[in-house]
Amino acid sequence: MCGVIGIVSSSPVASDLVVGLSALQHRGQDAAGIVTWSDRFHLHKGAGRATRVFGDVDVQKELRGRIGIGHVRYATQGSADVLDAQPVAVNYPLALAMAHNGNVTNFTRLRTRLNREHHRLVETNNDVELILYTLAALLEREDLKRLGVPAVLAAVTALLDQVEGAYSVVAVVAGLGLLGFRDRHGIRPLVLGERRQGTGHSVALASESTVFDHLGFDVQREIAPGEAVLITLDGQVHSVAPPPGPSHFCAFEFIYFAREDAVMNGARVAAQRILAGRKLAERVREAGLEPDIVIDVPNSAYFAATGLAEALGLPYRRGLAQNPEFGRSFLHATQVERERAVRQKLNPIREVIAGKRVAVVDDSIVRGTTSRHIVRLLRDCGAKAVYMLSAAPPVRFPCVYGIDIATRGEILAAGLNTEQIREALGADAVVYQRLSDLQDLFGTTAGCYACFSGQYPTPIDRATLRLIEAERRSQRGN
Ligand code: SF4
Repeated sequence: MCGVIGIVSSSPVASDLVVGLSALQHRGQDAAGIVTWSDRFHLHKGAGRATRVFGDVDVQKELRGRIGIGHVRYATQGSADVLDAQPVAVNYPLALAMAHNGNVTNFTRLRTRLNREHHRLVETNNDVELILYTLAALLEREDLKRLGVPAVLAAVTALLDQVEGAYSVVAVVAGLGLLGFRDRHGIRPLVLGERRQGTGHSVALASESTVFDHLGFDVQREIAPGEAVLITLDGQVHSVAPPPGPSHFCAFEFIYFAREDAVMNGARVAAQRILAGRKLAERVREAGLEPDIVIDVPNSAYFAATGLAEALGLPYRRGLAQNPEFGRSFLHATQVERERAVRQKLNPIREVIAGKRVAVVDDSIVRGTTSRHIVRLLRDCGAKAVYMLSAAPPVRFPCVYGIDIATRGEILAAGLNTEQIREALGADAVVYQRLSDLQDLFGTTAGCYACFSGQYPTPIDRATLRLIEAERRSQRGN
């Protein structure tokens, strides 16, 4: 999973891009990159967080121009190396730079076609190159001297038929404007915003609405599934969209990935999490559990935990302190790094825990790394009982759309029932959200639940699934 931003403005965009990327930092901390365009591309990318990569003002000064895109990366496809960091730029047949959030699922077919028919060699393992070269190949057919908005939007419409999977894309088409589009299923988010300040005018695309709050932009609307927009250098927004159809927006954005203050598909993420917590309270009652207090696994479970505590009439406490120096443990590339991160990140508050039956709410249980460690910590602190409560249903299937739940072997619930999971975690009880409850709660705001149900909204056969899993395993060296 990653975060993207693109801005076209009447003034230089570099500092706004840096602020925007830092507001998307929770979506990826492996690498960050920005490319701007003036008379040529100005590209800077590096490993780590955006504030570190762009902390030097001289670096920002070099990013000249009034149009640019940025990216924060969490490696799901491709390695965590800077070589695989985005944005990626090409100069043939025209100057194009691109960044994306998501995963292409027909990558083998695309790579072969690009190589055989267009003599393009995809240099990295990063599938943004596949999207970029596919667009370049489609634009190659045009009269580039007269390339205009309709031709670019038509090329994107053709691209959407060729590239399968989940992708929200921002791109600079040099001399023309900022391009953005979403796959036909609308699995990953993309929002349009605008700012007018005096005579200044800026239009932007970003993964989350929170970017616009920080930059003083007004949110205009979300880009529709299968829609392409081209914002020309004068700030005009041109768009082409298919007739409205079903959206398969990722339910996990609401559960874990998006920031709680973001609005997605018209719903505030925090409000969705509170509802999920309240619903989970019904399952806790059904299980006959009688906790003394409710605590959360910081930070993404906070709203679900408080919703659950209110519904059960129990006190909510912050029982685990978080070391803010350490990011989200899910966003580490290897299991060893994840375990180290969990150890360094969380510390229990003894007085809150000792002698109590503690209900610990987490947003989800994927690998079990965090849950197992927390159960141990709480027992060491003298908890009388530890109940692990998951605001999401059991994750049983890999995600092939850009979230790192990539191999069945690493998913705790893939082959275990709830009792076996309880045993594996060492908890006194484990309670999960029901999938049907979550689907009722989220309604039309979400549409992909494949990691819970195994029903993928795009064509995914067993061979593709095996290929994606094998690729992921080889990148991790296991
Ligand atoms: S499979 Fe799960 S994580 Fe992946 S897009 Fe669908 S809901 Fe989101």
